[in-house]
Parts: sequence; structure tokens; C-alpha cells
Amino acid sequence: MVDLATNIIGEDSARAPGNLTAWLPDLIYTGDGFKSGLSLICDAAGRIVRISRDTDGITDVVRLENQALLPGMINAHSHAFQRVIRGRTEARAVGASGASDNFWAWRTAMYRAANLLSPEDIYDVSRMAFLEMALGGITSVGEFHYLHRTPEGAAYNDPNLLAKEVVRAARDVGIRIALLRTAYARSDFRTLPGEQQRRFIEPQPETFISNAEALRLSLARDYEAGVAWMGVAPHSVRALDIDYLREVFKYAGEYKLPVHIHVAEQPAEVEACIAEHGRPPAALLDYEELLNERTTCIHAIHITPEEASQLHRARAIVCSCLTAERNLGDGIMNADLLLALHRNEDGTLSTNIALGTDSQAQIDLLEDARELEYHLRLQKLERAVLSTDKLDNAPEARMKEQDSDGDLSGLARMLFACATTSGARSINSSSGSLEVGRPADFFTVDVNDVSIAGAGEEDLLTAIVFSLSRTAVRTIVVNGFPIVEDGRHRAQDEIVARFRKLQNKLWRNGK
Ligand SMILES: [Zn+2]
Repeated sequence: MVDLATNIIGEDSARAPGNLTAWLPDLIYTGDGFKSGLSLICDAAGRIVRISRDTDGITDVVRLENQALLPGMINAHSHAFQRVIRGRTEARAVGASGASDNFWAWRTAMYRAANLLSPEDIYDVSRMAFLEMALGGITSVGEFHYLHRTPEGAAYNDPNLLAKEVVRAARDVGIRIALLRTAYARSDFRTLPGEQQRRFIEPQPETFISNAEALRLSLARDYEAGVAWMGVAPHSVRALDIDYLREVFKYAGEYKLPVHIHVAEQPAEVEACIAEHGRPPAALLDYEELLNERTTCIHAIHITPEEASQLHRARAIVCSCLTAERNLGDGIMNADLLLALHRNEDGTLSTNIALGTDSQAQIDLLEDARELEYHLRLQKLERAVLSTDKLDNAPEARMKEQDSDGDLSGLARMLFACATTSGARSINSSSGSLEVGRPADFFTVDVNDVSIAGAGEEDLLTAIVFSLSRTAVRTIVVNGFPIVEDGRHRAQDEIVARFRKLQNKLWRNGK
């Protein structure tokens, strides 16, 4: 197994302190475009020390022939355990409400699965999901974790047992994790907790905060190393009353933790929120002064233009989970209303939209990136809807000039920023861009893969964002340490075998 923490703090015996490693691909993505002839050079602690043509004196040169190197992607919204229901919810649900199957019928199936899993099962399914993420170029994940209690609804002796199983899974696969510990107190607006959610519920904010604080402290060493850290996730305005919501945000503010919350995924949720609070969810968060640059609103599909402005003004992030949203029939997020570009302090570009895989119906963050644009093309009967040329209203749209004649990759750069730097801002990861001083977290693609072959420096990023087959991904490095080589993870066979066994146990009586 990969031990990311050991690797990060420089105890990896394979690399003596002071030794440098140069990764030399055909092309490196620098944030503005691809460049050839450069090496990414990192130290023994896995930090990038320079990107340069000069490799003099470096004995450890790793040639990545016919490969292009890009910063690792950030999956800002995941529920790892939902991987067990992939392929099992695509038929009409028995007893689906009304005339059609919908999000709410899917949710019932998801609850059933959630109540079947032991702590070891949660480890196994989480490893499977994180393995697939790693193989697709994801090097950090924000895990929105709401399984806290036993299948019977009792507290475990350690109330963070299941969260720790998920963190262990990420460490063993070798990706970084923000464990977003979820607060959940009721089953719906003005509705007491139901039996189905018995594993999620912590009825009092004091219980949630005390358990979250215990987890935060237990991850202190991992936080220092950038391996695993905690954020909080008030599940939704549906699952918490307003007093509980305020308490969770207050706790997060004390420690400057990232806060993630599901917002406006379904019209029914918006209507019920207006009935309870007199405003829709994002407007409620704005009214309560809970939106800021540490807040990420997941989905934000059914919001008004005014709410989009409120989110923008607060520098809050919206995390769009397009492959999951299309699978659930949630609707189309108005990315054209929401999108703005931000130049970070270190000069890298981010947007106010991050991306997540959510229900794990598909784990392919580049597919999420391209859907951000494609859904709007289908809706508006236009092309290049999110072209950075169109972001005239964004005061920080500095890419505009670069998008004039001859620049083929402005739109792709923006979509790729959603998959990298924006996600990093959302979950507070040090990953997501190839900058000196940041960890060497990256993935490579085979430039001769049939899905992108023939692309040059000027159109390679566009080819990758819009057309890459995930099987073109060859090498994944986290903190200077390869976790995937030649398209395979070292523990892949064992992780898959354990997951097959779990699925047989859950759905086929162990056969
Ligand atoms: Zn979610």
C-alpha cells in the first residue's frame, strides 16, 4: 500500500533527503498552455522546486515518453459508498412515486444500500471509488460523509469510526482527502428524522460539533502533511433547521474550515424551503450571512439570477456534479449565469465553479467538465456558450485578451480550471496546479491514444477536455510519488477483488 503520510514527511527510504527527481514528459501544462522540453523537478519531500529545461546534476530523471503532464484534478464532491448502487438504479423503481421514477425514488434505493454496509464494507467501497478516481487523474477528493452510526442507528464507541475508514481508504489508494463531516438532523423540512436515515442523524448540534472536533484533532498530523483534513458539511437546508445550521457555520468559522452544503438540487426542495423560510435555499444562506469564500454550494441548479449574484458577490463556490445530475434528472445548472474567473494570489486561474462525481454513476471529471458546456449547448442551441470571450461581466476576466484570434483553448482552459484550481479552493487542497512550493501532484496522458492523437501544443488541452478517453491516462503521481504507473495502480487487483466480493455479498447472497 502507498503510505502518503510517510511519503510526504520524507521518510520514504527510496529517496534520500536532498535528492531531486526530474519528471520529463513530452509536454507540460503550465496553466496557460502546453510547453515542450521542460522537466517538473521535485525534492525528496515531494514539493515542486522548479519547472525547467535544466536537469544538470539530477541523477533521478524519469522520462515520460509520448506523455503530456497535467496537474492532478480535484473531485470536490463525492459520496464514495454510493458506488455500490452503480448499475442497480437504472430501471424504474418499484413503488416510484406518481407516474415516473425520479430523484426521490433513487434516494430510497440509496438509503437501503447505506443501511447494509459494515465499517469494513465502507472501507472496501471507498477504496474502489478512490481507485477509479486515481486512475482518471484525480489526486484529491472532498468526501461529503454522512454515515456516522450503526445500521441500527446507535452510536459507535468511536463516533468517527466510519469517517476514519473512509480516510484510511484514501490513504491506502494514495490520494488526498478532505473529509467533509456531515450534519444531518431531520428527514425533511419540518419533518422528524425517519428510520431510513438512522445512520446519518446527530439530532443536537452540540453532538455534531463535539464529534467533528474529535475528528479534526485526530487528523491534526495528516492536516499538517496535507494528506487528510476535515471540513464540515451541513447536509442541506432540508436536513437541518436554521438554528442547527447557524451553529455548524459558526463552528466552521472558528477554525476556517471549508463548508459544503447541498443547495437547490430539486425544485421540490426549493418550494419547501420557501414555505419554511420565505426564501429559496441560496437566498436563505445569503440572508443569514453564511456565504463566504469557504462556502461551497453543491448543485445550485434551481437558483434565481439574483441568487447567482449573491453567490458571486460572496466569492462562494458552486460545485456542479454533471454526470450525477444528468443521471438523476436534476436539471441543467446555469453555468453561464454563475461563471466568473478569479486570478489567485499565486497567479493561477480559478473559476467559481468546481466539479464533483457525487453519486459515482460515472467517475470521470473531464466528462463533468465538458458537460458543463454541452448541457448549455443543448439547451440554447448554440456552441461555445461558456467561451471566456462572453464573460464580459466578470471584472477579473483577464483571459479575455488571450481568447482573441488564434487561441483554440480558452474554453478548455476555463473548464480545466473548474476541475483543478477551483476544486482545490473548494476543499482547501494544496494540489490542483503545478506551482513551485506546491506538492508534485499530477497525471499524464498518452499523446498517441486514439482519442487525442494528432493534437499539437495549441489544441491538446481542448482535445483532452472534450475528447479524452479515460484509458489514455498513464501515470499518476501524488506528492512526488507514483501511485499509478502504465495505467495501473499497484493494489488494483486486490481492491477490485474485494469490491466484487462485497457486491456479491450485498446483492447476490454471497455467490
Ligand atoms: Zn451529494
